[in-house]
Amino acid sequence: MTTSHVFHRSSITTPPRAVRGEGCYIIDAAGKRYLDGSGGAAVSCLGHSDADVIAAIKEQVSTLAFAHTGFFTNDPAERLAARLIDHAPEGIEKVYFVSGGSEAVETALKMARQYVIEIGEPQRTRFIARRQSYHGNTLGALAAGGNAWRKEPFAPLLPESHHIAPCAPYRDRADGESLEDYGRRVADELETKLAELGPETVIGFIAEPVVGATMGAVGAVPGYFKRVREICDRHGVLLILDEVMCGMGRTGTLFACEQDGVVPDIVTIAKGLGAGYVPIGATLCTGKIHDAFAKGSGFFQHGHTYIGHATSCAAADAVVTKLTDGGLTARAAEMGEKLEKALKQALSDHPHIGDIRGRGMFQGLEIVRDRDTKEPFDPSETIHKKIKAAAFEAGLICYPMGGTIDGRRGDHVLLAPPFIISDTELEELIDKLDSAIRSVLG
Ligand code: PLP
Repeated sequence: MTTSHVFHRSSITTPPRAVRGEGCYIIDAAGKRYLDGSGGAAVSCLGHSDADVIAAIKEQVSTLAFAHTGFFTNDPAERLAARLIDHAPEGIEKVYFVSGGSEAVETALKMARQYVIEIGEPQRTRFIARRQSYHGNTLGALAAGGNAWRKEPFAPLLPESHHIAPCAPYRDRADGESLEDYGRRVADELETKLAELGPETVIGFIAEPVVGATMGAVGAVPGYFKRVREICDRHGVLLILDEVMCGMGRTGTLFACEQDGVVPDIVTIAKGLGAGYVPIGATLCTGKIHDAFAKGSGFFQHGHTYIGHATSCAAADAVVTKLTDGGLTARAAEMGEKLEKALKQALSDHPHIGDIRGRGMFQGLEIVRDRDTKEPFDPSETIHKKIKAAAFEAGLICYPMGGTIDGRRGDHVLLAPPFIISDTELEELIDKLDSAIRSVLG
């Protein structure tokens, strides 16, 4: 039993106490340094001691910490929204600020539902998502997600949702099938699902441009999202992209979907938006969606106490300024190439590494028992947990997870280091990861 009164993630053990952040490192109460190779869970894109973000928070909190949005707007929220829209794909015009990723997804789902009511299509009540996706842990977002083990205990509480295959070429592309043909085949599952449900009953399709937590940095093949966009347009179905993990420069462009050449109707961001300095997320939408509210009821029937929090927005504005004008998204692209190359050099011949994939500073390794058959390890071996523990022991934070294939079988390791990582720190990351993997898998 633990003496802590915090309801920790584990009810049995208490993790080490983090006391300081220094660049790419977290330091615990015993003085041990951990290189943050996954930015926690793809959060800390600027490392843990960014002077500009800290200064922005101090200045804002001493001027106006918070003013409820039921009464006021505030400068940081207006500034941040304008900055995001300046850099967002063409057509995205409005930003709704929340406190994190799950709230951003809940907001997207409710915004989409109210939008169809505003345009006189209230019979649209369903969402389609993809298997092996993660959209958050609140009930609506959890229902939309397609991760079996996360959903199972709460299934009786979850609203209806429908799922199609993810775009995951390592496992699902047929022998001899081109990437483009494969992408088209899996995108067309959306068309089939719409036909099955009745397209006029569907509000939207939600997907992560690069799947993070559940699969380990799996981006779509060329043409996939363009095909999805076409299908959505043909049936008046909204395309909602969840960039909570892969957005805000992580993949080498501020919005991940820029690389897929599509503009969503709604896009969610969080994590890297606050970079770990403040809890913040956002749901962005097109002018067309906002207009429907403006010309209809004039009111989005939603809201939380902390939406548009002035201090959070000031911090995020400093973060986004560094990602854009400060050149850190470009640095993520550049260092991401180095990361991918170094990972491949160190581990692509390892007999238990089946696939190394990702975009920019968002890379994943899929672990297999047999490289030829792609057979995974038995889940009872909990390979991902062992790798996480070995890396942590060695002073490296990475983000391994199980259930890669179907929510039960398969293991992967996700890496999402701070964009400020140096060449020497990158070497340290690779060395420590390599040793951790070899200590578990041989
Ligand atoms: N959406 C995606 C794609 C995520 O990866 C996550 C978290 O990992 C969420 C939503 C939920 O975000 P949060 O944990 O901030 O609620």
